[in-house]
Amino acid sequence: MLIDTHAHLEMLEGVLDVIQRARDSGVERILAVSSDLPSSKRSVEISKNFPDVFAAVGIHPHEASSLNDELFSEIESLAGEQKVLAIGETGLDYHYMHSPREVQIYSFRRHIELAKRVRLPLVIHVRDAHEDVLEVLREENTRDMGAVIHCFTGDYPTAKQYIDEGFYISFSGVLTFKNAEDIREAARKIPFKRILVETDSPYLAPIPFRGKRNEPAYVKYVAQKIAELRGVSLEEIEEQTTTNAKNLFSFDVQ
Ligand SMILES: [Zn+2]
Ligand SMILES: [Zn+2]
Repeated sequence: MLIDTHAHLEMLEGVLDVIQRARDSGVERILAVSSDLPSSKRSVEISKNFPDVFAAVGIHPHEASSLNDELFSEIESLAGEQKVLAIGETGLDYHYMHSPREVQIYSFRRHIELAKRVRLPLVIHVRDAHEDVLEVLREENTRDMGAVIHCFTGDYPTAKQYIDEGFYISFSGVLTFKNAEDIREAARKIPFKRILVETDSPYLAPIPFRGKRNEPAYVKYVAQKIAELRGVSLEEIEEQTTTNAKNLFSFDVQ
């Protein structure tokens, strides 16, 4: 059994079938991650309709410019919902720069502060911004709060820095792409206890589905790749990553 720790379920059409296919492929839990207020509301809604779906609420760094007190207080009240297990996704994305750097950092800090206050872990998105993310995390004293760097796309030394801060590293279908040798090296070397798997559906479908719509059922291709890289069985990867996900997120709520 596997846990897809990052899927934008609300962006997928035919969610009932999507979830059923995930179950049929051995996915026991899905964390429905959000990128703005409407998607946060929809993720919570979906989590209420399916026993194996849980939600994370927050504002994606792309949308950081939309953040204001009123909107954030709505995110905060959603964070109090029973099946909300995390805050996110938040973080910094300097690749697309859809929101200015300072605005992204401000939003990231507010999410960290909220996560601490409501005692939930953070789902962090990083693209071309590892240095600033690490700096903010250290300044905000996040060591014991629990966090995952989702869809990790750095190299091993970068992963190691997050691990040293006490974080988890989540791998997506990118791991299966041709030019991802750095990421594969990280997946080979980091401690087993720190690895999570995700799809980031509907984006980043793993090979052999690259370019198509991704969905949680495909998380097994990510797990398979890690098994191959580490020279262990798929079952071992399933067991360890599921244990890790359960250590980070409190999936026992109903
Ligand atoms: Zn992301
Ligand atoms: Zn995402």
